Amino acid sequence: MHLDQQTIAVVMMVFFCSTLIIAAGLVFALRACEAGRLWAFGHVLVSAAGLALAISAASGTGQLGTLGALAFVAGWLLIYRGVRVYYGVPANAAALAAAGVIVLGLTAATSGMPDGQQMVLRIVYGLLALVSLATFATLARAGRGRRSIGAPLVLVASLVHLATQLAGFSHAMSLPVAGGAPLTLFFAGPAGSAWVLAPLIATLLGLFGFTVMAMEQIVAHNESGARMDALTGLLNRGALEMSALSLVARWQRDGQALSCLVIDIDYFKQVNDTFGHHAGDAVLREVAHALDNSRRASDVAGRYGGEEFCILCPHTDEQQASALANRILRKVRAIELPAGHGHASVSIGVAQLRGGAGSKEALWRLLFADADRALYHAKEHGRDRYVLASSMAAPAAASALPAPLLEPEPDLAG
Ligand code: GH3
Ligand code: MG
Ligand code: MG
Repeated sequence: MHLDQQTIAVVMMVFFCSTLIIAAGLVFALRACEAGRLWAFGHVLVSAAGLALAISAASGTGQLGTLGALAFVAGWLLIYRGVRVYYGVPANAAALAAAGVIVLGLTAATSGMPDGQQMVLRIVYGLLALVSLATFATLARAGRGRRSIGAPLVLVASLVHLATQLAGFSHAMSLPVAGGAPLTLFFAGPAGSAWVLAPLIATLLGLFGFTVMAMEQIVAHNESGARMDALTGLLNRGALEMSALSLVARWQRDGQALSCLVIDIDYFKQVNDTFGHHAGDAVLREVAHALDNSRRASDVAGRYGGEEFCILCPHTDEQQASALANRILRKVRAIELPAGHGHASVSIGVAQLRGGAGSKEALWRLLFADADRALYHAKEHGRDRYVLASSMAAPAAASALPAPLLEPEPDLAG
């Protein structure tokens, strides 16, 4: 199929007009995702430049102005940056800015020359091919192993764009510098061929693919936000209980030990009363950090409420869990209270899920209640220690740890 220039111009006008509207809508729709915003805004620039070029081609001139060329380059640079931000690859903003300034200087210098138009095309096609190559490389390298329906579409789209720009570059290089036939359309490598439609289809694929990827990121972010305790970054109570139920279900299936630690900060009310809630919040965060750094990767840590935390340890019996309790006690004792008023401490109840029939909800309530009861024993026996639920029947239930650093009812203000 061979298309005349007027037909190509009209197709491009319709196409770029549509992508301009879609991309502008996506800037707004994907505003919660930085990568999505950059990507969509890049497409706004590319579409606007493409539309301007198509209009000028339809009216017979078809010259690519310096401004249009710059808009194309800036648009593709933004798209490239969006891909890097999406995969958390450093954005290298200085290099991008330097590339932009160099192109600006070169195009400004050459566009005043008699053969400036050809020079602009060569520079712009060459640069676009480089940007597309970098985009493709980032997508192929950083996206490997990550599952997303959108990623293969974006990868194919960037490959088609790379091929188009290389074809455009070689076409621009093959034209005589002065007096050659002017390139009437930016995308038209072998002018008039139906291949001109390939990058248009690739653009649609890429837009759709990246929209899916950005939406997936927004949904994942919202889901993790809904599961997380905003102050400490640990799981919130709802997410902790969900994890607990699935761990109890696993325990029912494989019978491997499951232990639970309930942890409560000692005399925390006094910390608040003496130093204020902001200082109290800081201590809460530090204790949460200490818990998070003490647990194994397979353990699940959450804030149960107020100044109370819970850690669930799959494949761990009570004795093994007591080693974790000891680590936590040591780490929390290193947390300094404001104004040199000693150190923080916690009390811990440790329990292991014992055999018993019942629903997973009932078993989880039982496990938590055992650990909670052990926690209150630890409080009663002087705080800054752990107690095993299994040892509570014995008279000296509390572990033989050093005396608490915070004596009962210390006068923090004094
Ligand atoms: P004990 O050693 O017996 O546990 O004494 P305690 O003072 O820690 O216990 P109590 O239950 O009397 O006090 C808990 C305090 O925790 C009271 C409440 O104001 C504070 N608290 C709960 N949630 C937060 C929070 O998000 N931020 C701050 N700063 N304080 C909180
Ligand atoms: Mg407390
Ligand atoms: Mg409490």
